[in-house]
Amino acid sequence: MNIDWSKLGFHYTEPDYIVRAGYHDGKWEEPYATKDKFLHLHVSATCLQYGQEAFEGLKAFRGVDGKIRIFRWRENAKRMAKSAEGLYMAPVPEELFGKAIRLALEKNMDFLPPYGTGATLYFRPLLIGTTPRLGVGPGRDFEFIVIPSPIGPYYPGKFHCTTFVVNRHVDRAAPYGTGTFKVGGNYASSFRATEPAHAEGMDCLFLDAKYHRYIDECAAANFIGIKKPTPNPSLKGGESRIEYLTPRSSAILPSITNDSLMTLAKDLGMKVTRRHIRLEELSEMSEAAACGTAAVISPIDKVIDPENNRIYRLSDEPGPVLTKLYHALKDIQYGQAEDRHHWCEVIEI
Ligand SMILES: *Cc1c(COP(=O)(O)O)cnc(C)c1O
Repeated sequence: MNIDWSKLGFHYTEPDYIVRAGYHDGKWEEPYATKDKFLHLHVSATCLQYGQEAFEGLKAFRGVDGKIRIFRWRENAKRMAKSAEGLYMAPVPEELFGKAIRLALEKNMDFLPPYGTGATLYFRPLLIGTTPRLGVGPGRDFEFIVIPSPIGPYYPGKFHCTTFVVNRHVDRAAPYGTGTFKVGGNYASSFRATEPAHAEGMDCLFLDAKYHRYIDECAAANFIGIKKPTPNPSLKGGESRIEYLTPRSSAILPSITNDSLMTLAKDLGMKVTRRHIRLEELSEMSEAAACGTAAVISPIDKVIDPENNRIYRLSDEPGPVLTKLYHALKDIQYGQAEDRHHWCEVIEI
C-alpha cells in the first residue's frame, strides 16, 4: 500500500473492505467485512422510494504515542439510534455499531494514516431501509454499512477562515422536523442553497425556518459564537468571562464536536450558553465558527446577509479563543493531552 498521506485530499478514498450487517425478521445479523462495495438492492427499497436513510461520521486517530484512538463512538451510535427512530427504522444496537467500526478498522489498517500527517481514518456508518415497498410506508428490513475512508487534513495549509452567506429562500429543516436527525434528506434538500454558495467559495448559514430570525446551523456543522467579557462587568447584565454561545433549536443536529467543545470551554473557565441567537447578534461577537467532526472548527471571517444588504465582520484570521479550543480538542484526539473526560477509546489491534 503506497498512499502519499501529504497529498490525500479531503475526499473519498476507496478502502479495501466495508462492513455490513442486515436486519431481517426482527433480528440483526453479525457484522461482516466484504470487498464488494455494491448492494443488490430492490428498485422499490424504502431507502430509494421514501428516503429511509440515516448516516454518521466519526474518526480514528493514530496518536503521538502510536496508539489508535476512536473519538466518542458511543455518542455516534446513540445519535444513529435516534435518527433511526426518527425515520421509523430499526436502531442499530450500540454494541453492534462498535463491533462494526472496530472490524472496519482492523480490516483496513493500511489506510490508517500515521501520526503527524494530519490525516485520519474517517468512518461513514450508513443505515438504509431495504424492504421492497411501493405502497407508502416504512420497511421491515434494513442494512447497516460502515464505509471507512482515509481523509487528508481539513487544513492542509494554515488554519483559516471561511465566509458564510445567509439564504432566506431555502430552509434546511423545519422546527420539530428532521433537523435533529442525521439523514441524507436534510442534505439533498439544502444542496440548492449550499451548491451556489460553494461555487462562490462560501458556505451557508441557515436561519430558523419559522421566523428567519435566529441562527440555526450550517449545512453540516453547528454554529458557535464567542463574546468577549464586557468592559464593566459590574453593570447590570455584564459578564466577566468569555462567553461561548451556541443556538438552541428544535431543528439542528446535536453535534458531538460542539458538545465536546462546550465541555472544554467550561474547563477553560468560559461561560457556555445555549439559547436562541438572533442573526444581528453576530455584530456583538468577536469570533464565530462552524464545528463538526470533519474540520473540528471552521472559523468564520464574515457573514453576508444579501437580502438585508448587511455584512457582519468577525475576524479575518482565526481568533485566539477558537484557536485555543481547536487545539485543545485535537490534542486529546491525538493523545497529546490528558483525556480527562474519557472521550477516546484506545483500540489494540
Ligand atoms: C454531522 C453534522 C454536524 C456535526 O456533528 P458532529 O457530531 O460534530 O460531527 C452538524 N450539523 C449537521 C447537520 C450534521 O449533519
